[in-house]
Amino acid sequence: MSEIPYKIYLAENEIPSKWYNVRADMKNKPAPLVNPGTGEPMKAEDLFPVFCEELCRQELDNETPYIDIPQEIQDFYKMYRPSPLVRAYCLEKYLDTPAHIYYKFEGNNTSGSHKLNSAIAQAYYAKQQGLKGVTTETGAGQWGTALSMACAYFGLDLQVFMVKVSYEQKPFRREVMRTYGAKVTPSPSMETNIGRAINEKYPGTTGSLGCAISEAVEAATSQEGYRYVLGSVLNQVLLHQSIIGLETKAALDKVGVKADMIIGCAGGGSNLGGLISPFVGQMLRGEADYEIIAVEPASCPSLTRGSYVYDFCDTGKVCPLAKMYTLGSGYIPAPNHAGGLRYHGMSPVISQLYDDKIISARSVKQTDVFEAAETFARVEGILPAPESSHAIRVAIDEALKCKESGEEKNIVFGLTGTGYFDLVAYQQYNDGTMEDYVPTDEEIAKSLAECPKF
Ligand SMILES: *Cc1c(COP(=O)(O)O)cnc(C)c1O
Repeated sequence: MSEIPYKIYLAENEIPSKWYNVRADMKNKPAPLVNPGTGEPMKAEDLFPVFCEELCRQELDNETPYIDIPQEIQDFYKMYRPSPLVRAYCLEKYLDTPAHIYYKFEGNNTSGSHKLNSAIAQAYYAKQQGLKGVTTETGAGQWGTALSMACAYFGLDLQVFMVKVSYEQKPFRREVMRTYGAKVTPSPSMETNIGRAINEKYPGTTGSLGCAISEAVEAATSQEGYRYVLGSVLNQVLLHQSIIGLETKAALDKVGVKADMIIGCAGGGSNLGGLISPFVGQMLRGEADYEIIAVEPASCPSLTRGSYVYDFCDTGKVCPLAKMYTLGSGYIPAPNHAGGLRYHGMSPVISQLYDDKIISARSVKQTDVFEAAETFARVEGILPAPESSHAIRVAIDEALKCKESGEEKNIVFGLTGTGYFDLVAYQQYNDGTMEDYVPTDEEIAKSLAECPKF
């Protein structure tokens, strides 16, 4: 077989024109979202006041395997896709491993991550519905940045509630969002009832993601012509992110390579779900087998140490309940946790696949993650996002195992983004002040005890 190039690109007309919905091939479907008031599964009409209508339909569609990507979204994708699948020759050489390592790089756009793949889709459907704008929350700012780019493209208004501590400490992300026309409000704010109540109850609080979600939902439902959008966890987001896996599979097929192992980092599960979907589809249909590993931080280990139960999606408890691997919606990762992936729960699709043992999971400590990030930056050139570096850590560990066993495994991992806005975390690592935090069983049990009894 001929030599595999460093970068395996698809041609523009080979970019997939349909998303793949892995739920269609799942025997055990992910559990439905449930109304916390009535205990009944949410129907599309129940979700319409909060989310765009077409997105509600996608959220609940467990049957349609392929969904057409509207032409306008395909056109936008062409501005930054296909993303390259890179053969990590330099890393293989550095590790002296017989393994073949490939990574799918999603950081080649201004938002610096895969989040743009779903942001553009959600903005498109909002525009189609004739809405004025959308609201959302952002923590570190990747999602808000991606959505601000998407809303600018379609001329939609965007209101972002940004966790106050990030708003103050990450002014650069904030300015990118404002450059794309978004209104960015530090949360908790004085603009919503929930924000005012939280500010009154906890004067001087620097906010949390859960609180920002509650504010964004209130802002969407209290303004005419607005809806709320979310950047991870939901089925619809995994659907849009399937573009990552479809391109990866097409590129591997093009050079005649079959992956043995597929590795992705898991926060809410959207990039992982998107990367693995077409491969999991093959497994579910009995066509192929892969070893799939979700990598999460040891400080926020929802898959490896959480419970598979119904829980609130947000700390403010305004969203529907989802059945997922969770640490409890009140779980707050340690303040010194710098590596992202802080969400307390996991996508219902990923949770079900994990419960059915179709995929496995591993947790890693943040100093080990940054060590891998540094190695990767030095030998492959790209400064990786801390989130992405969780996957790098496990890819390196697995490649080193191959060195011992002599196996020539094909290892594929998702490199979700770049780390230019995470330099405070890199600074802590470089200064030797970064600490590892692993919650005790008691801490997790205490937070899980607060899950709704259902
Ligand atoms: C948001 C983000 C993640 C984690 O989100 P998922 O929904 O789990 O994919 C991973 N990497 C980067 C670069 C991100 O911005």
